[in-house]
Amino acid sequence: MKLLGPIPPYFSSINGILEISGEVSEALVARAGSSPLFIYSAEIIRQRVASLRAAMPSSIGLHYAVKANPFLPLIHVMSELVDGFDIASAGELANLLGAGIDPRKVSFAGPGKRDAELEAAITAGVTLNLESEAEADRALAIAERLSRTPRLAIRVNPSFDLKGSGMKMGGGAKPFGLDEDRVPPLARRIVASGAEWRGYHIFAGSQAISAEAIIETQRQTLELAARLGRESGVPVPHVNLGGGFGIPYFPGDTPLDLPAVGAALGDRMASLPEELAKTEFCIELGRYLVGEAGVYLTRVIERKESHGEVFLIVDGGMHHQLAASGNFGTVVRRNYPVAIATRFDAPVEEEASVVGCLCTPLDRLADKAGFPRAEAGDLVAVFCAGAYGATASPMHFLGHGPAAEILV
Ligand SMILES: *Cc1c(COP(=O)(O)O)cnc(C)c1O
Repeated sequence: MKLLGPIPPYFSSINGILEISGEVSEALVARAGSSPLFIYSAEIIRQRVASLRAAMPSSIGLHYAVKANPFLPLIHVMSELVDGFDIASAGELANLLGAGIDPRKVSFAGPGKRDAELEAAITAGVTLNLESEAEADRALAIAERLSRTPRLAIRVNPSFDLKGSGMKMGGGAKPFGLDEDRVPPLARRIVASGAEWRGYHIFAGSQAISAEAIIETQRQTLELAARLGRESGVPVPHVNLGGGFGIPYFPGDTPLDLPAVGAALGDRMASLPEELAKTEFCIELGRYLVGEAGVYLTRVIERKESHGEVFLIVDGGMHHQLAASGNFGTVVRRNYPVAIATRFDAPVEEEASVVGCLCTPLDRLADKAGFPRAEAGDLVAVFCAGAYGATASPMHFLGHGPAAEILV
């Protein structure tokens, strides 16, 4: 029998049925009108942000990386909680502007920004995290044509990466950001152009649950920012320190030691080098804020046995929850936290695999794990579904359509 990932500590049961923010699973499905669906808990998001604020130095701004979950009601909740938003497309920009978010709190990173996207961002007054000299040229030309003062930062491709991170975004050849040695000349050129200079964006990786790795990366990031300040000879008004705070998804994963990260960063903030004495700092987080706040609920259509193995075939699958199927950035397939929501307190009775309704062997949400005996009609919960779930899954694949989403 294979193990399942750890269920986040925010969930319990009412009469044996999984509850989310005080409402039982069946009631949530009834409210949404159908399964499968994603449920995001505003209460859990608030708790996550509060514990982060409590642990981090108060001088560090907190940004939300919209790509983790762009669901509009969730963005509205987030707008009361964070200091800024990081986006990666004009589509995300339009969503934020539609939600009434102040564009001055928004920064835009991402390779391959089109001219139309640069124009939309400059018109709105969003900070551009420039990914190359060529992008800087285009942004400056567009700003001149529009007679606008662009807000420009440089995204740096750091020579180090976030150790143990699920997705490396720095260290060596990368499509993201400028190599360190090319940064100072561009910084000087941006300042000389009369643009509003916004400093550096340094993002070294994602999904690290080791405090030690994050502390070391933050040390290197601050050292790099100071060196760039020194070598470019222009002030450093702002540094986006990246993020990469991970959450436990798989068996054996443990939560990030947030107080340790906060204490180490607090020490560094108290003894900043001269180049960074007047700098404002932020971190940008996606999954850490919303990942554990989401649950994907899907109903068992059929219980089937084949060659002695039990398959619980559900009405959802990898077209909504690609990551849980092991096909989004993981090398070895391991089980997410998954439970039978309608038998949440029942003991393990058998080994079963939860498979989706897609006609491909890739569509497996839990592999040979221990569950109470489930029947057609039971609801299955896949946890850690608040980030990179609905938004990062191939919802058009096989024509079943998108899942419902609700915020409670
Ligand atoms: C994806 C991304 C993030 C968010 O990553 P999480 O692992 O969800 O915290 C933050 N910043 C940048 C530049 C990204 O590309």
